[in-house]
Amino acid sequence: MKYLSTKGRAEPVSLREAVLKGMPDDGGLFFPEHIPRVSTEFLREMDALSFQEISLEVARLFFSEDISEEELEGFIRNSITFDAPLKRVKENVYSLELFFGPTLAFKDFGARFMAEMVSYFAKKEGKKLTVLVATSGDTGSAVANAFYQKEGIEVFILYPSGKISKNQELQITTYDKNITALEIKGTFDDCQRLVKTAFLDRELNDRLNLTSANSINIARLIPQSFYYFYGFSQLKGRKERVIISVPSGNFGNLTAGIIAKKMGLPIHKFVASTNINDAVPLYLKTGRFEPKESKRTISSAMDVGDPSNFARILYIYGNDLNRIREDIVGWSFDDEETKDTIGEVYQRYDYLLDPHGAVAFLGLSKAMEEINGASGIFLETAHPAKFFDIIELIIKRKVELPSGLREVLSKRKRSIILSRSFSEFKGFLLETTKR
Ligand SMILES: *Cc1c(COP(=O)(O)O)cnc(C)c1O
Repeated sequence: MKYLSTKGRAEPVSLREAVLKGMPDDGGLFFPEHIPRVSTEFLREMDALSFQEISLEVARLFFSEDISEEELEGFIRNSITFDAPLKRVKENVYSLELFFGPTLAFKDFGARFMAEMVSYFAKKEGKKLTVLVATSGDTGSAVANAFYQKEGIEVFILYPSGKISKNQELQITTYDKNITALEIKGTFDDCQRLVKTAFLDRELNDRLNLTSANSINIARLIPQSFYYFYGFSQLKGRKERVIISVPSGNFGNLTAGIIAKKMGLPIHKFVASTNINDAVPLYLKTGRFEPKESKRTISSAMDVGDPSNFARILYIYGNDLNRIREDIVGWSFDDEETKDTIGEVYQRYDYLLDPHGAVAFLGLSKAMEEINGASGIFLETAHPAKFFDIIELIIKRKVELPSGLREVLSKRKRSIILSRSFSEFKGFLLETTKR
């Protein structure tokens, strides 16, 4: 299968090129030339299959022309190593818990699958690859963990010094071997600029075989559709009018859901649930897309003013607002509503939401008021313990930290401090990777 640009001006490329390049030259985003459909037998029999079996079937439909069945099986075996259980919260409302990966957030799915694929290309070509990624927190930890000790790959993670939480910082800076954390004296935008400039730099590209691991990479996007199938399959008998609410920032997760629907998964509606960074809900209301500066909230992984995957959503629906509105409704919620919901759901249903899941729960509740007889799923994208400081204040009880998180918090930070100057960054990369 070839990959096209959403802007349509760049040449179609192979899977390898789409993954290693990250972005087409025309400034669009890569998208598969067509979305394959699952068979009706698969949909009928899906309930009896494991998460790994379901994932393999979806992966095979996209990648089997480019990667052998055996290799794909290996990718799934190594990346989909934890469950995504569907938990009942109340009548007709279910939480799809996506936080059982090593960094306790759903980004582990995409990052781990992508690491398998990039490492496969590196091995196949016998080339060493260098992954650069800028992070404002959560992407960095998922990427660091996923690529740790992957053969033939050197990873540099750039993060803004003093601007991410201690928790997040330790999840990036406590690796060794092929993972290096670069603490940039600047903002997240400076980190992104350094990475983007590096990709345009001939010498660096030639010497280091640069690859991007940011969230728009197609190898991170597609595996996120696996758990929509698996979540749906766990509904067993309740599959009429299924609504799925997705807590959204860059809209990669929701895009993957739309892909699952286009593959044939009968999802009735999606809810684009956001915090006050509400460019997409506003677009759904007014038809105008007006990106803004991002605003800080307690659901910080969704603090995105200009969601990058929105271009893919427009592309899928041919820019047709009415068609988009048939499939997606959207609402935004502020921090007060989010906190109240965490408290209320804990009290009434004994279920602990994290701030991102709480936004999704709110969006789902709104959508279900309008659709009779629906079954609702909201995606719980992070483990509540990651936000223990906020949550303990709300529920007035201690939140148990999972052992993995406790362990990370006790480790020693190792980072290399650099200024935001490109020449210093470039000099560092050339020096460190000299061999
Ligand atoms: C990244 C992230 C999101 C937003 O996902 P997008 O694909 O960017 O919309 C939501 N919740 C958590 C916990 C995240 O880390």
